[in-house]
Amino acid sequence: MRIAVLALQGAFAEHEQMLHRLGVETFQVRQLADWQQPKDGLIIPGGESTTQGKLLHDLGLFEPIRQAISEGLPVFGTCAGLILLSPMHLGTMDISVQRNAYGRQLGSFHTTAAVKGIGENVPMTFIRAPYIKEVLSPQCEVLAEVDGHIVAARQGKQLVTAFHPELDQDTSVHQAFLNLITE
Ligand code: GLN
Repeated sequence: MRIAVLALQGAFAEHEQMLHRLGVETFQVRQLADWQQPKDGLIIPGGESTTQGKLLHDLGLFEPIRQAISEGLPVFGTCAGLILLSPMHLGTMDISVQRNAYGRQLGSFHTTAAVKGIGENVPMTFIRAPYIKEVLSPQCEVLAEVDGHIVAARQGKQLVTAFHPELDQDTSVHQAFLNLITE
């Protein structure tokens, strides 16, 4: 298995390390030529969604990525990656999103919570995180909530988390993404 990791900005290296620990090969997508390599899935990392969105357009990556996901390429978006999959950007995931949802004081925090089908005590690191205000279609399934807000969801082969599993030691969310690819 070979996973493309969008590497324009943000926490892409940590995702690669996590996948390497799980024995999976990765490559970085920095330009269109990288994207054209064969791949079994894509990770869109956390960082700054406005910057990543602008770079996707500037580099001609926006439309090819949007199309591949609509055609069923498995994708895992964390934090800014969740925002990029929402209707604010690529629009492949039927969710409405509140950016920087936890305010300045509570911008970053750590907790554990249950994630459906993944675990009862999944570590969750939030960094100026968004949350999902609402899932907008029955195809989109809520997987986790923290303090009454949706922080993980799945729609077909798309998985999103508002938190950063790549920053904790627990590999269960990445493993769940790999399972989703092969199921
Ligand atoms: N606040 C960032 C944004 O809106 C997301 C933060 C993150 O990815 N850690 O893009």
